[in-house]
Amino acid sequence: MNETRLSSAKNRKLERLYDFIEAIYHSKESSFYKSVWGNVNPKDGRIDYYSLPTIDVKHIIQHEFDKRLYVKNGLFVKVVYGNDIPFLIAVTKDSIGQESYGGILCQRPLVSFENSHESIEKGLWFYGKNIMPLAAEDNLDITLMVAERYGVDSIVGDTESIKKLLSKAERYIDGKKITSIILVDFCFDADCNGSLKKYFPNAKITLVFSLSETGSLGLACEEKADGQTFHPSENTLIETDEHGYLVATQLIMRPTPIIKYRTRIKIKMEKKSCFCGSELSFSIRN
Ligand SMILES: [Zn+2]
Repeated sequence: MNETRLSSAKNRKLERLYDFIEAIYHSKESSFYKSVWGNVNPKDGRIDYYSLPTIDVKHIIQHEFDKRLYVKNGLFVKVVYGNDIPFLIAVTKDSIGQESYGGILCQRPLVSFENSHESIEKGLWFYGKNIMPLAAEDNLDITLMVAERYGVDSIVGDTESIKKLLSKAERYIDGKKITSIILVDFCFDADCNGSLKKYFPNAKITLVFSLSETGSLGLACEEKADGQTFHPSENTLIETDEHGYLVATQLIMRPTPIIKYRTRIKIKMEKKSCFCGSELSFSIRN
């Protein structure tokens, strides 16, 4: 990609960002962000995104669920834990459809997360793309037996769940038939990755950096084999706060949008062109 094309893509994203912030600020559905932001600084007649404060899980927990909804219809609601306190997060089929989980290389995915809400939600992502997912059962043997009968061609899940599947997969599934594995998590285990490559030699492995409350935020670079370098997803902006914590904004009209959301994950950011064309990389710091 040449520089002019890169900078115009960057400008379009910025333009979308400023429009998005205006829409949220003037929304009649909710004043959640307006109350958190207080007096906003206009710059060239628009709200200056870079001067807005961050929010974190505490802001979400403190606001009643209904009062922080910018979209009120067609919600799928799930329970998320933040600081060990359960709270509600909603998605819509449209909002989850705008998240990025990599290129689609499958028709019959097995979706298996430790938390069943996650399995249903990620299943919705496939469903929205006319792909019929198979949701995992609590019983591992039944899950794998059914997966074999359904003819799954891919597996989508978090590290814990996929590790469990791996422990018994050999008994039920021909690993060579799996063409795609999508690992969705916020920390990744090199050993697990190694085992996946060994047992599923024909599968393309996609690592998706994702939090339960935000969904996909970034995808591991396909050019760098370290599995630790991520690029922000198409509709996501990644920054860090002064302590190095990841701050995310998604240009997606989620029921409760994610704008300058400060996570508890420390990252290292690098602003330089990667081999793959991305201009920004981040890696998770321990
Ligand atoms: Zn890259």
